[in-house]
Amino acid sequence: MSITDRIARGLESGWKVTDGATLTRNQTHEADVVVIGTGAGGGTTAEILARSGLSVILVEEGRLYYQKDFRMNELDAYASLYQEGMSRVTKDGAISILQGRCVGGSTTVNWTSSFRTPAPTLNWWASRFGLDGLSPEAMKPWFDGREERHNIEPWRVDPNLNNDILRQGCEKLGWSWQIIPRNVKGCWNLGYCGVGCPTNAKQGALTTTIPGALDNNATLFHGLRAERLVVKQDRINHLTASAMSADGIIPSGVTVELRARHFVVAASAIGSPGLLLRSDIPDPHERIGKRTFIHPVNATVAEMAETVDPYYGAPQSIYSDQFNFSGGVDGPAGFKLEVPPLHPAMSAGVVPGHGADQTLDLSRLPRMNSVLALLRDGFHPDSPGGTVSLRGDGSPVLDYPVTDYLWRGLRESFHRMAEIQFAAGAQRVRLMHLDSPWFSSWPEARKAIDDLAMESHRVRLFTAHQMGGCGMGQDPRESVVNGFGEHHHLANLSVHDASIFPTSIGANPQLSVYALAARNSTHLAGRLRG
Ligand SMILES: Cc1cc2nc3c(=O)[nH]c(=O)nc-3n(C[C@H](O)[C@H](O)[C@H](O)COP(=O)(O)OP(=O)(O)OC[C@H]3O[C@@H](n4cnc5c(N)ncnc54)[C@H](O)[C@@H]3O)c2cc1C
Repeated sequence: MSITDRIARGLESGWKVTDGATLTRNQTHEADVVVIGTGAGGGTTAEILARSGLSVILVEEGRLYYQKDFRMNELDAYASLYQEGMSRVTKDGAISILQGRCVGGSTTVNWTSSFRTPAPTLNWWASRFGLDGLSPEAMKPWFDGREERHNIEPWRVDPNLNNDILRQGCEKLGWSWQIIPRNVKGCWNLGYCGVGCPTNAKQGALTTTIPGALDNNATLFHGLRAERLVVKQDRINHLTASAMSADGIIPSGVTVELRARHFVVAASAIGSPGLLLRSDIPDPHERIGKRTFIHPVNATVAEMAETVDPYYGAPQSIYSDQFNFSGGVDGPAGFKLEVPPLHPAMSAGVVPGHGADQTLDLSRLPRMNSVLALLRDGFHPDSPGGTVSLRGDGSPVLDYPVTDYLWRGLRESFHRMAEIQFAAGAQRVRLMHLDSPWFSSWPEARKAIDDLAMESHRVRLFTAHQMGGCGMGQDPRESVVNGFGEHHHLANLSVHDASIFPTSIGANPQLSVYALAARNSTHLAGRLRG
């Protein structure tokens, strides 16, 4: 099968792409719009604005890696494609944060699950934050459009065994399960989505909207970090940015000044509030960085009798929403159940234990299955989320205290995940918890889970979903932007990424970001072309 490489072809055809590492002198550029970040939100925005005839400059801190670089090699990929070389964590080190740092952003490394924003979430946003324009009916055309753009369809190939165990367990217990829609075209079912798709099947920003923007005359600077938006009166005057050296990490000392009529920040939750804080953007109610959300994720592993090979095949193809909204939208913490792929390097980082015990556990990886729970945060008064602030060097960091409300949800989800795995025939199940032994039966696990301490640093928590921090809403006293992502106080500033979500959403976020960015960019193009 031959592989079409839009990026290689585009570069040959003369796309305007500059690697910051090649810049040797300070310089200034100008366009109608500067878009900061090239992920789900930034890519969508750049393509729509460029297609409408506006001149667009894209700024990306990470580098341009594409098909030729994606070698299914975990260690190289984590170091080059992820924020902080895959070692980003919350301020107290208790939650691992997986986030992309490359052209295409997190969509270049994500696992391709593609869900519409759940209707209860959109309805709650309308009633709680005055976001009536985002009702499920109003958003439908935007979801339809983005599903077409990113080739999103339910996965028609049989799930791999790792996912099928979730299906089998749910079926035995009489719980609901569904097939996950994925954004792929001609997928080879390899299972290496998390280290960059080696066959260009993944329809993330890198293979769709970024080429779409560049085909329409946009300019891309990669290896260029947005440092500061400079405000003059009630407008952004320009952006100052630092070129990275060839290692992609250390600034080379060359600076670039970018001028535009309008600035769109799409540097992701954590990145966008960080940039706005660094820039001292007017914030009379101190909302920037507040109500930043993740879906806190806990997981269990099971040892099965047969070979699972949990690293091969579409990483996520089955989910269960049995417990997501069952307690009401703002009741006890609900959770979505899915499966993570278990590649060796990543598994070595999360499976508790060390020395001979860990060696033994990892030698059994081919027979392991894992289930994860995505906790829904931000809907209940006891779930205020976290706060982004700046370190001494100006880089953003997320403080995310785990509340008792969330611990109750995490304990409950440990119960349900272990129950599913035993129902599906697991020989042994272990929680991703430092004090958890391997359990040999569901009654044994059920009793023990109630006694385990639910504490930071004992429960292994991680997240690949960052949201909020520049929340949208009608009331400037409790939000940063309005329902179109427009800043409440600066006329030529918008935010178009997951940071505008006023809560977490209860589903994997990429399609929600694509759809909101498409809606808000179409609105912005109308305004600027006015
Ligand atoms: C391993 C993994 C698996 C995932 N799996 C799924 C999945 O299956 N389904 C799903 O829906 N979601 C998944 N996600 C999450 C999803 O990809 C993100 O929610 C989505 O991409 C967020 O879009 P965004 O535009 O907010 O940010 P991103 O897509 O992360 O893009 C932000 C970009 O801004 C850049 N940036 C940051 N700061 C600066 C700066 N100062 N200057 C210049 N550039 C900057 C970053 O380098 C990045 O490229 C996954 C994420 C990861 C990491």
